[in-house]
Amino acid sequence: MSKNKDILDEEKKHVADATRVKYFDIVIDHGQGAKITDADGREYLDLLASASAINVGHSHPKVVEAITAQAKKLIQYTPAYFANTTTAELAKKLVELAPGDFDKQVVFGNSGSDANDAIIKFARAYTKRQYVVSYTGAYHGSTYGALSISGVSLNMTRHIGPLLPGIVKVPYPDRSQRLAGEDEITFSERLFKAFKLPFETYLPADEVALVIIEPIQGDGGIIKAPQHYMELVYEFTRQHGIVFAVDEVNQGLGRTGKMWSIDHFGIAPDLMSIGKSIASGLPLSAVVGRKDIMSSLSAPANVYTTAGNPVTSAAALATLDVIESEQLVVRSHRLGEVARYFFEQESQKHAFIGDVRLYGLNGGIDIVDAQGQPDDEATTKLIYRIFELGAIMISLRGNTLRFQPPLVITEEELSQAFEIMQCAFDELDNGLLKLPETDNHIGW
Ligand code: PMP
Repeated sequence: MSKNKDILDEEKKHVADATRVKYFDIVIDHGQGAKITDADGREYLDLLASASAINVGHSHPKVVEAITAQAKKLIQYTPAYFANTTTAELAKKLVELAPGDFDKQVVFGNSGSDANDAIIKFARAYTKRQYVVSYTGAYHGSTYGALSISGVSLNMTRHIGPLLPGIVKVPYPDRSQRLAGEDEITFSERLFKAFKLPFETYLPADEVALVIIEPIQGDGGIIKAPQHYMELVYEFTRQHGIVFAVDEVNQGLGRTGKMWSIDHFGIAPDLMSIGKSIASGLPLSAVVGRKDIMSSLSAPANVYTTAGNPVTSAAALATLDVIESEQLVVRSHRLGEVARYFFEQESQKHAFIGDVRLYGLNGGIDIVDAQGQPDDEATTKLIYRIFELGAIMISLRGNTLRFQPPLVITEEELSQAFEIMQCAFDELDNGLLKLPETDNHIGW
């Protein structure tokens, strides 16, 4: 008898498919640190913690304690009507932590999606312009606004249009487009031409409110924009009075070996969205940015009943404390380098390992066929075998292994993860892996 199966059979009757990006038929019962345990008592290493918003690990004692203490004190009074001590403290902390030597303010939300919606609102209200430029391959969320600026698969947008008008997509600067022998400056300039193309044809720059980018694309495949490209785009926004915003929902909070992914570039964005791991999985998001921009919207233009709820704020304060006190940003960088060594060694051994991208404990590893083309089938075989062997890892865009363990993963657990992957890689090379028998839709 499998409890997983019984619960899933029931659950599938009641929960609509629209909320799923389902992979494995398990039901999670509990988690601690880098480990989760399913309803049948089977333990897995969680290599997907960024997606599930758990940078500081599952049920971190300090976070649990903060949530419990706050819940005893005050669970909720809508922050839209009355401020509360905990959320006020968090606002101050986030303003301090965000890059930029200018006056800043913050608004809270319930999800990364609504934070990105708020960014669109702020940019439009501040500039009194309507157009928004965003990127192919981007994922900014599932509300109409955030979905409209995303560059995701048709599965997410089919039959629900029209989406928000006034959105222009430009190609994300993916390093796989770099030509042989092309240096980074030339590559960046070539990509920047593609960025400017709409502006030179149909899009007047003085009607553009916002450029929004993930400095390192998360769901798009863990792809980092080139430094010079980012500088060119940032400079372009300065010249034309366009708000420059970054989405740190996926790649922020130490994930990339820096506190914010934009810190890799030395640029202070006008606005940035934060979410996912900020409250260790409780629903909280924020937009932090330039006070003059944030004050362009008058009350109550961005109000949600539970946004900035005291319990989620207490969880966020504790999470930020753990990131600082356990030096998780440095740890992410250090263990990320260990992981880079592992994946690069493996790529020497296995022709099917293509591009390896690691920024902190945050990897995108491409799986390719003999011609170097994306091999979605082999990727699916791998993630299912890795699952059977006791680790949760998923794929991005079909053929990229997504490696994002909690930043608190121990070195021993990391070695276990490597052993599991190594075994699956060897078995794939030896033709031992089969496609799983499942009717789960895999991926986005
Ligand atoms: N932005 C990015 C970069 C994301 O990765 C995500 C979630 N995958 C979101 C926004 C949306 O966040 P949420 O699911 O909390 O709405």
